[in-house]
Amino acid sequence: MENINLSKVRVRIAPSPTGFVHIGNLRTILYNYLFARHNKGEFIVRIEDTDQSRFVKGAMEDLLKTLEWADIDYEEGPFLNAEGKIEEKGDYGPYTQSKRLDIYKKHIKTLLDKNKAYYCFCSKDRLEKLRNEQKEQKLPPKYDQHCRNLSKDEAQKMINSGEEYVIRFKTPENKDVIFEDAIRGTIKVNTHDVDDFVLVKTDKFPTYHFANIVDDHLMKITHVLRGEEWIASTPKHQLLYEAFGWHPPIFAHLPTILNKQKKKMSKRDGDVSVKDFISQGYLKDALLNFITLLGWNAGTDQEIYTRDEMIKQFSLDNVHKAGAVFDLDKLDWINGVYIRQLDDEKFADLCIPYLCKAKLITQDNDKYVKSETGENIDISFIRRALALEQARIKNINEIADTVKFFFSDKFKYSKDLLVWKKSTKEATKKALALVMDELNKIDENQFKSETIEEKLKMLAQNNNLGNGDVFWPLRVALSGREKSPGPHEMAEVFGKDKTLIRLKDAILKI
Ligand code: GLU
Repeated sequence: MENINLSKVRVRIAPSPTGFVHIGNLRTILYNYLFARHNKGEFIVRIEDTDQSRFVKGAMEDLLKTLEWADIDYEEGPFLNAEGKIEEKGDYGPYTQSKRLDIYKKHIKTLLDKNKAYYCFCSKDRLEKLRNEQKEQKLPPKYDQHCRNLSKDEAQKMINSGEEYVIRFKTPENKDVIFEDAIRGTIKVNTHDVDDFVLVKTDKFPTYHFANIVDDHLMKITHVLRGEEWIASTPKHQLLYEAFGWHPPIFAHLPTILNKQKKKMSKRDGDVSVKDFISQGYLKDALLNFITLLGWNAGTDQEIYTRDEMIKQFSLDNVHKAGAVFDLDKLDWINGVYIRQLDDEKFADLCIPYLCKAKLITQDNDKYVKSETGENIDISFIRRALALEQARIKNINEIADTVKFFFSDKFKYSKDLLVWKKSTKEATKKALALVMDELNKIDENQFKSETIEEKLKMLAQNNNLGNGDVFWPLRVALSGREKSPGPHEMAEVFGKDKTLIRLKDAILKI
């Protein structure tokens, strides 16, 4: 048997371009990448596009862009060049199965010659009838091997006369297929449960099973890390390796991703495409950290990992067998942790497009203006206003709404909101006037959060008012909201003039 060289780890992802990259695909990509980097091996991308009827335009580009977005590098496969066109690199190409038809042709001939495969001329109608009969008898669907014993001459005659055919695998009878899954342990299946599956379809394209194992072998793949949904295919793959006399790679089937109801996650669960999560404002590193934890952790309590830590600690030993529950609350929590790690500038860079989209600010060359009035707005004001929210928000896409009042004067609140729950209208009126007076006394360049806080606390004390009587109406006057960053912090960002204007408006209102 031809051996594989385990000293040089080579893993691959083998996506079919049948849709946009979803969370499950990205998890497979990440685990292969981490495994390759941890083992100083090579990571290969191969496109399995033999089912031409399911081909989705743009899916391949979406995959390659996602890899680029995720900063996942790979050694071989298709790459997007500067013009956005696909180019292949690597010594084991082509890496797109539709360009490898000659290779499959050669290999199917080997199996036919070895009498491990056979032509099957059964019509669709016959197969359907057979399936229906089996269904009625509550039997699993299985080909009845009608053409298995046609002689070579008979088959050739039928081919010459133009009959349509497929090529099937001659599955050995009553044989135990046993393999070690690196995550699940020993798996044993009897061939009684394995069909004489199709290797080459009527359109002469190879099936997934056939092309997949030929390519994994020729591309010297050492480990196959893929979703659990492929585990039922693996006995077929083992049989094919054996039929060729090739050593199979090591298989590791990754746990299914489940929704909160512990059912397999599907499109019905809403946004499972990576694109959707990105457009919802999740940070790249947070999303990747979260996805890495869908079925793996280092065996410690650690939840936040840098890329280097992931590479260092990743091992198949710590990949779980049980399904991984996709918990949005956890994603939000991780996203929050990553948001807080950003510096003011980086945070603002991420938020500004959302402020522009919400038409709060407009970019004018290298400056920003308030969309409402067209007046210039200083980048440091934008950064300081945003920084107040950084500790509070879970997701960047909430930002425009939470900071709206910094960029627009058109905000409405009811005058009742100015009155703190333990206060009265009269006390509020008095407090607002006192606050205005007190703030007016602070020098423009002393107008800092701590000074304001200190002065207002003193003011409350000296006038027999509670802190709430003083700070609450200031909060509402500045933001129009019940929940906001600290009123003194907002006052500093607004500056003295603007703070006094909003206080005056509030007094007029009440
Ligand atoms: N083409 C399969 C897919 O779409 C590949 C499965 C495998 O990794 O073998 O995911």
